[in-house]
Amino acid sequence: MQKVLQLSIFPFGMINCFLIKGETKHILVDTGVPNSEKKIIKQLSKHNIKLEDIGLIIITHGHIDHFGSAKELKDILKAPLLMHDLDKIALQSGRSMLETLKPNHRLWDVVLKPKLAKDKASPCLPDIVLKGDEEYDLSIYGIKGKIIHTPGHTPGSLSVVLENGDAIIMDLASSGILLGGIVFNSRMKHPPFHDNLNQVRNSINHVLSLNTETFYLGHGNPVSRKSLMHYSEILLKP
Ligand SMILES: [Zn+2]
Ligand SMILES: [Zn+2]
Repeated sequence: MQKVLQLSIFPFGMINCFLIKGETKHILVDTGVPNSEKKIIKQLSKHNIKLEDIGLIIITHGHIDHFGSAKELKDILKAPLLMHDLDKIALQSGRSMLETLKPNHRLWDVVLKPKLAKDKASPCLPDIVLKGDEEYDLSIYGIKGKIIHTPGHTPGSLSVVLENGDAIIMDLASSGILLGGIVFNSRMKHPPFHDNLNQVRNSINHVLSLNTETFYLGHGNPVSRKSLMHYSEILLKP
């Protein structure tokens, strides 16, 4: 049975959220840009997911294309929000963590950063806060897997690693061209920004060490272990 459903906010996987199906409850991972709640709810119903069965919302990091509709979805789903301590300021202020937006290409500094800096989400508080390298076991939702701290893209970035080999690593890497993949949508590339490339490499190695096979990304289509290793070895080469 497929455990991870990709919910795309824009066509071609330009911005993705995910749903992890559990035996007891399901988990929503990320909430898209502001005003994405209707799109997400619509895709959930298309997959026959009952809203009351969603028991947790994970916000992977403090960029507005991931927490933009957190407050609205928390209110609709009545589910707690989980985030890392080092990124929670973004959720609380409703703004992206600008100091982490270190562009991987000059274009993004000009085209994307001003937009991310301007956009504002409804502020809210996380209900569950992970600290340091604390892990969060998902067995209470009937899901064999855990949330781990994978810093680098931002200091408090989180990934979800499942025992079936699926891993949601969000913006640790991207695939496709531009944001997501209109063509070449499984080709590896840098996301627009990374806070700390060394940490990204270490976090990818951490995720690769956990018997993972398929990697789900915030921008672009899922990629294989071979592709992620290529990204780490070639594009993140020190
Ligand atoms: Zn990001
Ligand atoms: Zn992103």
